[in-house]
Amino acid sequence: MLENTQFVALYFAGTIGINLLCAAFLFVSRIRKYRAQFSMLLLGCFSASLYQFITWQYHSSTDIQGALLLLKVQTSILILCLPAYASLFLRWTKYKIALPYFNAFVALCVLFLVINIASDSSLRFSGALELVQYQVFNNETVARLDGAQSTYMIAFYIFCMLVVCGLAAIVYKAFKDHQFLLFSLLFAALFLQALTGLNGVQIERGTLNSIYFDGLPFTVLNFLACLYIASALNRKTNSLKIQVGIRERLESVLLGLAKGTSNNKDNHFYMNMMHELRRLTNAQLCCICAVEPHSNKHQVHTKAVVYKRKGISNFSFPITKISNELITKIEQGRVIKDLTRFYQDIPIFARVEAKSCFSIPMLNNDGQLEGSIILLFKNTIEENDSLSQTLNIFASRAGAELQRDRADKKLNEMAYFDYQTKLPNMSSLYELIEFCYSRNTVNNTQSGLIMFDLNRFTEVNRNFGFKYSEIAIQTLGERLKAYCSEQIFIARTGGDEFVCLIKDMEHDPKALMRLHWEAICSIVKKPIHAGSFVIRLTCNGGGVVFPEQTKSKVEVIRCAEIALANAKLTHGQALTFFDASSLEAIDRKEILIKMLEPALKSDRELYAVYQPKMDHAGNLLGCEALVRWNNPELGMVSPDEFIQLAEESALVDELGNWMLHQVCQQINKWREIGLVMPARVAINVSPYQLAQEHFLPLLIDTMKHYEVCPSMLEVEITETLLLTNLEDCVDKLKQLQEIGVSIALDDFGTGYSSLQYLNELPLDVIKIDRSFVKNLHKKNTLELAKAIVSISHHMNLKVVAEGVETKEQVQALKEIGCDVFQGYYFSKPIRANELSAWALKKTATSSKPVSHIRG
Ligand code: C2E
Ligand code: CA
Ligand code: CA
Repeated sequence: MLENTQFVALYFAGTIGINLLCAAFLFVSRIRKYRAQFSMLLLGCFSASLYQFITWQYHSSTDIQGALLLLKVQTSILILCLPAYASLFLRWTKYKIALPYFNAFVALCVLFLVINIASDSSLRFSGALELVQYQVFNNETVARLDGAQSTYMIAFYIFCMLVVCGLAAIVYKAFKDHQFLLFSLLFAALFLQALTGLNGVQIERGTLNSIYFDGLPFTVLNFLACLYIASALNRKTNSLKIQVGIRERLESVLLGLAKGTSNNKDNHFYMNMMHELRRLTNAQLCCICAVEPHSNKHQVHTKAVVYKRKGISNFSFPITKISNELITKIEQGRVIKDLTRFYQDIPIFARVEAKSCFSIPMLNNDGQLEGSIILLFKNTIEENDSLSQTLNIFASRAGAELQRDRADKKLNEMAYFDYQTKLPNMSSLYELIEFCYSRNTVNNTQSGLIMFDLNRFTEVNRNFGFKYSEIAIQTLGERLKAYCSEQIFIARTGGDEFVCLIKDMEHDPKALMRLHWEAICSIVKKPIHAGSFVIRLTCNGGGVVFPEQTKSKVEVIRCAEIALANAKLTHGQALTFFDASSLEAIDRKEILIKMLEPALKSDRELYAVYQPKMDHAGNLLGCEALVRWNNPELGMVSPDEFIQLAEESALVDELGNWMLHQVCQQINKWREIGLVMPARVAINVSPYQLAQEHFLPLLIDTMKHYEVCPSMLEVEITETLLLTNLEDCVDKLKQLQEIGVSIALDDFGTGYSSLQYLNELPLDVIKIDRSFVKNLHKKNTLELAKAIVSISHHMNLKVVAEGVETKEQVQALKEIGCDVFQGYYFSKPIRANELSAWALKKTATSSKPVSHIRG
């Protein structure tokens, strides 16, 4: 228990302490925002503590003068505090009073202050001062001055009453503004002030023995103000904490957004985004809507929907019925309230019972609406900047993803469609074949595939230029596209190559395919007007029926290719169907090509044979070198078979050079052993080989290497090569002829315009093809052969007859003037040593009729 006597000291020390503590709190908190108020409050705290201290001293005074001085100081502080607290109240409650009134109030305070300081016995007394001791309520003794009351003091009391009334009006404003906490605080201070004012009056009148409690309201006010500030600070801190929390969550969400990429398959990315949005906004329904620009413009498709915390399946809805107001607001990204208006038109609003909607548009780079993020709320929400900002981030991320999706789709289109004709491409075709193959197998139906290519399109390219040939292809593409239907699928599979697939045929598939082929041909044939040109195209087609004709789906295209290759051999717009034997041939072809290359390297499988050429008297005039291939697995492979393959695979050049070495080496050997061997050895040179730049230098080098005289060599060329790059051929052959190599035109009579070339080519020999020789018994052929011989002789060319098999043929050929004979009648192609043996024997047995040699 406290000692009674200590109460006064405790009261004053306590109030001083409280004020100082408040001052310290204010000083430490250093709030910047309301610096003026805080400074004033800080000053108020100091003033209040000083006031209490002075009052304390006053109550313990022992002499009148000292007490009077303290009283004056105490009253001055009181007066000074009035405007300070009034302005604090005003600022705090934002109460506005006209400046002149406030100035008048301050002026009055100054007046009272001056009176208090200047008068002999302070503002309170007019004279007859004495220091009285009296007991306060707890029997403690305190001192105070007593004397005649001054009239100024009465005026001051009235002034104070008015001030209190004014402050009451200000406090009432806080009440009206619903600032209840502030109101209670100020009201308490004011109420205490009124009580202590009464207390002062009573002390002054001597009706109450008490210490002055004037400082108490200030102390209470300061204390409550600090409490108020502390609680406001606490609230602010809490809200900051929440904000930081939200921001952190937002950051983590955004980080997730930034990291995440969409997965086309399951829309996982969009769904995640919507879940995050729901967590952030508490919306009843969150969805991403995309406006599909390629499909129906008035249709909106959702990409992801979260409803009541759960992801639900996507849906579409038409936007035709939606009012312009709604669309505009959605496009602007605004809050739309009172959604019940739209319940009829947009069922989803009704289903969710949405009251308000917030949407953020997703615009593409061109500023066009790609879609929007839409949030539906069960309550009415207000426009909210931070929410819009957040949604904007989501929208731009989702928008980017939408654009990416679309780009993917476009890429996909590019992967499956030919950009020039917009027809499907090879990849699409493969997929469709796969699909049809399985379905036909199950349904026991057939599909037909026709591969066709344009004849001489490279010529079209050359003649009309790239621009017009492109127009031609585009036009053709459009026409073919128009021909497509449920059952007909047409793809472009190469520069001038197309494929038509006829699905699911039940009866006589080939007949139906022929019908479609007729139609395709007439589409292709229809003249194309490109600029000032008219381009006319034709085509060949190869057809295959699957699964009937093929063993597996991977074979379909290959079979069609084989059929097309066969079709090309027949000139005209034919549709050639695939037949299984060609596949076997192709398989064998592939095997041969695969084995020929190692054979060329090994030097063990290939060898040269020589077939003699004779005059009519049976004298050996020369021979033709022919290649032979004996493969351990395949056995003997005919040159007719593998030479053509070598030509197709460019191996023929290597093969030709190999033969050149063999022949030159052989000629060298024959010379070394002292044999004067066939005047000339002919070697076959393929068109591809002749076309090579290194052909001439290589031939000359090889001759030099084996010391072979050019007059020992003859080169046999076939007409086919003359079709391409005639100039180059003529040039090379001329050079050969100049150095003394003889040039023979092989297989004469099998080509088309042979006679035309006779003039242009530098030739020494013409070899009449064995098909001619075979048919010599026919009158026409004989006449033709006669004419050839006569023309050749006229042009100073020697004539060799190939494939001479019978005596009659020799006789007939002799009669029409043929110079040289080659054929089984004389000898089959034989090995070099056999030939030399045969030649030796022949020279020994004079020039009598030739004995037959079989190689
Ligand atoms: P080719 O140049 O017309 O060669 C003549 C072909 O007729 C040879 O067939 C020969 O064996 C054959 N032959 C010769 N006399 C008769 C006969 O009385 N009756 C019949 N039915 N055939 C006869 P081979 O050796 O099978 O050669 C076929 C073709 O292969 C040759 O036709 C030639 O074009 C090509 N060839 C052969 N060896 C080479 C070569 O080393 N290089 C090149 N580029 N082609 C060659
Ligand atoms: Ca030949
Ligand atoms: Ca020939």
